[in-house]
Amino acid sequence: MKSRREFIKIGAIGSAALITQTACASEKGEDLEEILIPPVAAIKPIVLSTWNHGLDANKAAWEVLSQGGSALDAVEQGVRVTESDPTNQSVGLGGLPDRDGNVTLDACIIDHNSNCGAVAFLQYIENPISVARKVMEDTPHVLLAGVGALNFALEKGFEKTNLLTEKSKQAWENWLKDSEYEPQINSENHDTIGMIAIDESGNLSGACTTSGMAYKLHGRVGDSPIIAAGLFLDNEVGAAVATGVGEAVIRTAGSAIVVELMRHGKTPQEACEEAVARIMSKHKDLTNMQVGFIALNKNGEYGCHSVYAGFNIAVKHNDFEDMVDAQYELEW
Ligand code: ASP
Repeated sequence: MKSRREFIKIGAIGSAALITQTACASEKGEDLEEILIPPVAAIKPIVLSTWNHGLDANKAAWEVLSQGGSALDAVEQGVRVTESDPTNQSVGLGGLPDRDGNVTLDACIIDHNSNCGAVAFLQYIENPISVARKVMEDTPHVLLAGVGALNFALEKGFEKTNLLTEKSKQAWENWLKDSEYEPQINSENHDTIGMIAIDESGNLSGACTTSGMAYKLHGRVGDSPIIAAGLFLDNEVGAAVATGVGEAVIRTAGSAIVVELMRHGKTPQEACEEAVARIMSKHKDLTNMQVGFIALNKNGEYGCHSVYAGFNIAVKHNDFEDMVDAQYELEW
């Protein structure tokens, strides 16, 4: 586990170019304020995503970003990789089902103009993020749910697929044996992919997609398709995405809070820390209440923080590609 100081060093990679520019200006005797305000987009393109599966997703996003493509295309292409991976049991195909054995998916997407689209409680579609994008682009609405979302997807040419893999079916059958059919939050069952990116033009976009909490009540929808909870972005400020117990993120409008804190001057790291503190102060019982946030500001600076140990993020830009461990408040 990296110390807080080490993490901040890594997080500050995003501001390296800004610092270099400042140093150069000072050597030349130029007015620093003029150079620094408004801030220079230090690192672009850049893509960040949640958890280890983010590494492969970032690679797909990078294919788009490195060729001058839009952040919107990048985040869609990126998270589709995770959605289509049958070995991943928390997103898309192969996701763990609800307590009745149905795989139900939630996803949302947002672009630099604050256009957004989302689907919730969607069954049988492998890539809900692309359905969310269609909701954004082809309808006057933001969020479609359930059968309506499924019918819309089929109308748009998406194929109906059985998303329950043998491995996830077995896991569910094992869970049924001693669960007494009680939905429970535990540390293993939340691993949404959330991705935020800045493209060559300096525009931000974000995507978030999940099969939600394993063995949830049929019909339960988490934070991941809810703009302002699971994902939020303001192109003038930055973007944030959440993972973990969706109910806690919804209660506190988590991602919107992170972006608003950045708007009011917090660094991405400070903003994530304050949103985590907010969640902790609003919940008396923090048992298994894991929540993690990633934030990215307009300059390409980023941060991440979680309630419990273990959250990590995948980071990719021109000079860096690796996992970064988030700092946290509690040990399990
Ligand atoms: N946030 C998701 C939900 O509550 C779970 C996750 O992060 O995997 O549905």
